[in-house]
Amino acid sequence: MPTAHISVNGRRYRQPDAPLVVVCVDGCEPEYINQAMAAGRVPFLASLRERGVCLTADCVVPSFTNPNNLSIVTGVPPSVHGICGNYFWDRDAGAEVMMNDPKYLRAPTILAALADAGRKVAVVTAKDKLRALLGHRMTGICFSSEKAAEATRAANGIDGVPALVGMDVPSVYSAGLSEFVFAAGVKLMQRERPDVMYLSTTDYVQHKAAPGTGPANDFYAMMDGYLGALDAMGATVVVTADHGMNAKTDAFGRPNIVFLQDVLDRRFGAGGTRVILPITDPYVVHHGALGSFATVYLSGSASLGDATAALTALPGIESVLPRADACARFELPDDRVGDLVIVSERLTVLGTSRERHDLSGLDVPLRSHGGVSEQQVPLIANRAATALPTGRRWRNFDAFDLALNHLQ
Ligand SMILES: [Zn+2]
Repeated sequence: MPTAHISVNGRRYRQPDAPLVVVCVDGCEPEYINQAMAAGRVPFLASLRERGVCLTADCVVPSFTNPNNLSIVTGVPPSVHGICGNYFWDRDAGAEVMMNDPKYLRAPTILAALADAGRKVAVVTAKDKLRALLGHRMTGICFSSEKAAEATRAANGIDGVPALVGMDVPSVYSAGLSEFVFAAGVKLMQRERPDVMYLSTTDYVQHKAAPGTGPANDFYAMMDGYLGALDAMGATVVVTADHGMNAKTDAFGRPNIVFLQDVLDRRFGAGGTRVILPITDPYVVHHGALGSFATVYLSGSASLGDATAALTALPGIESVLPRADACARFELPDDRVGDLVIVSERLTVLGTSRERHDLSGLDVPLRSHGGVSEQQVPLIANRAATALPTGRRWRNFDAFDLALNHLQ
């Protein structure tokens, strides 16, 4: 083969010589796998203790779904690819907008580059909000569980998905939506044998169930079966996560929420500040749009120093950083971040105004993510690695580097 490598966003990747499956398990705090393993529910993953690799990696902060999925498939942080939340304040448009349109993506994906190099590539994501970003300028198969029934050859590179998978399309709020991703992955590996496949689930279960609980162990047992099937078909399997997940409650299970907009309005008056929660998306039932990361735009009377002092004094706040410091520390695009970035502590989430959050859908104690406290995620492979560099800070967006450049 003449060219055995590709270069994407300044990083070099060997092309795969066996089918590669990279899996992003949404909200997979390492403890979920650890507890499922202790309960004997994940025999395939347990078998990797002997023959695979298990690293702990840092995800991107804000520890949200879209920034991290895009980091994994581009191999670079949001300062390069541009996607730093589900949602942001578009200063040019003067509006709060969803960041799920590929026009906001500033870097090519490893998936598209491998497809351009002649490799057969397939992408399956649970929620449709990620599909267009992950499949941007990519030739191949790309569809979501959510809209699997509507997939067409012209738009998605495949049709007849429910029949192929042999499952009805599940509700967007169900564990089934992620199972459909894994089941589709196994069927695609059987029928199409793609050179590279990217599977991305949804954190519906992780938002509701703590590590080691029944629904959580059931989810990981389900996942383990499909991963084992991919392994048995000769695929290299690399598993990582977009972010962790923590309870955001007191000991009685009541949510610890700091309503930032209410605090700032009391201090500076209505209209002096604008709080943006980049976790906001169309599917908020299970977390009420509450996460551990927020950004604030200042105008009028609110000075940076006064706002910083007011926010730093609040209980549950871990850090309040001016834009430049936050963008340097978290590798974020400075044109899509407010004047201040606020990160809350492990047990606390950030809201805008109390009346803007509908918590009626929270039928179990709140679990969420977004902060530094959800930064550590697993990075697991079913192959041994050759001489991994010691002392390296692994990131979840090193998944393709690990898979293509370091595994045997
Ligand atoms: Zn997520």
